[in-house]
Amino acid sequence: MSTKSSAELIEQYFATGALPGLPEGHLIDGHFVASGNGARMASVDPGNGKVFAEFAVGDAKDVARAVESAARGFEIWRRTRPAERCRVLNRMAALIREHAAYLSVVESVDSGKTLAEAEGDVSASARLFEYYAGAADKLEGTSIPLGPDYMSWSIREPVGVTAHIIPWNYPTSTFARGVAPSIAAGCAVVAKPAETTPFTALLMARLLCEAGLPPGVVNVVTGLGSAAGEPLAVHPKIAHVTFTGSVGTGVRVMQQVAPNVTRLTLELGGKSPLVALDDCDVEAAAEGALSAIFCNAGQVCSAGSRLVVSRAIHADLMQRLLEKTRALTLGHGLRNPHMGPLNSELHLGRVKAHVDRARERGAAILCGGNPTQDPASGGGFFFEPTIIDALATNDPAVQQEIFGPVLAVQVVDSDEAALAAANGTEYGLIAGVYSRDIGRALRLARDLDAGQVSINEYWAGGVEVPFGGNRKSGFGKEKGLEGMDAYLRTKCITARI
Ligand code: NAD
Repeated sequence: MSTKSSAELIEQYFATGALPGLPEGHLIDGHFVASGNGARMASVDPGNGKVFAEFAVGDAKDVARAVESAARGFEIWRRTRPAERCRVLNRMAALIREHAAYLSVVESVDSGKTLAEAEGDVSASARLFEYYAGAADKLEGTSIPLGPDYMSWSIREPVGVTAHIIPWNYPTSTFARGVAPSIAAGCAVVAKPAETTPFTALLMARLLCEAGLPPGVVNVVTGLGSAAGEPLAVHPKIAHVTFTGSVGTGVRVMQQVAPNVTRLTLELGGKSPLVALDDCDVEAAAEGALSAIFCNAGQVCSAGSRLVVSRAIHADLMQRLLEKTRALTLGHGLRNPHMGPLNSELHLGRVKAHVDRARERGAAILCGGNPTQDPASGGGFFFEPTIIDALATNDPAVQQEIFGPVLAVQVVDSDEAALAAANGTEYGLIAGVYSRDIGRALRLARDLDAGQVSINEYWAGGVEVPFGGNRKSGFGKEKGLEGMDAYLRTKCITARI
């Protein structure tokens, strides 16, 4: 893995259009290996639309090799003392930090996100390994009182081989937030990153091997959802599937795993509201709304893609928000603008279609609304930061996840109306509330149908705070101590004495 600085790597990338040291195969049993069928696919830089690398495209046979490798790895790892698991996870956190420059540059080119966002994602990934390192030797059970003639207690044991199906918007940290608790629990893993962002999962798995994880405990198969993701989810030796992605694919995965009765975590989409009440700090709410929707070009499951605003402050808030939005810079992620491109041409088309349909319905598009290019290269898959004002709750732009830099604004006249608007979609991932009256904010937080609610700072939280949605946003939690539950099962042992 390259040890050059970010500046050196960026200079080299812009001069050659390539990055040094990218893995070329799947990572199975501690080694990079080619696909059995030799298939490969091009990786496109969304910031300029050019191919910068190739990766292996796996199929069911590659997946089967990876799962068998993980099953062997599990037999070693489940018997490894928890204190040693802690040491490996802590070494992994240190290695991520040591290679942060390289991982961040690769992530930025592969996904399109700005370098600053990629650096934040890599840093959060190190923190996830560190956090779960601290938990690996504290997985205690309970003793159960049954009277003098019995002794009864529960133990928490690892579930087995876990599958991690990962989307393209946060490839590094989605890998870390599933894999770190799984191996901390004593499981072995097979991960399948998204086809447009294959590289950082491979690099992270390699670092785990370097950190001292026995061969086979971590495996990564790259490739398409249908050819690699599906065989992974349905493999009979998979004990738990952690799927992060769209609702449509999540439902399909749920159906796929049903015959095997495989355990499942679904981290799906969202249409999360930021509620700005009439007594809030309007400037703070405008800053919060800007970051909530335009962070990672809106490609965040928990993006604040709806602004539910009290009529009394609507004009003031919109004026501030528009000013800030018009000042946003766009460009190739490595140039560190405010906002990078969308992840693929296909996705750009989807976002454009959503906004075109809103325009045809006569929606008030206050700014943006069109695809655009990287000012330096004239290429790339960019979409202008877009705000659509005064939408009704049943408008498709309010109801559907657009997963791009498009904010849908809903104006309300009371706290009751704000709550009804905020809860008025089929999602329930997160929500934000801005108010100077903590009682008012907490009453809303109590009644919001969301897995997380933040008050007066939209992204408040961290790896310590359990994350996961309600309704069509999925089920199960990642992050926090609850994030380990998916990878552990309880066994109770009772003895007559
Ligand atoms: P997607 O559903 O298209 O793909 C996600 C992953 O599933 C990819 O690795 C893909 O290859 C794989 N896949 C596709 N078909 C499959 C199949 N039949 N069987 C098994 N695997 C299959 O999602 P995406 O477009 O990559 O990601 C965007 C979506 O992810 C958005 O809806 C977003 O909200 C959601 N997301 C949710 C969270 C969360 O934590 N809740 C986090 C990030 C993204």
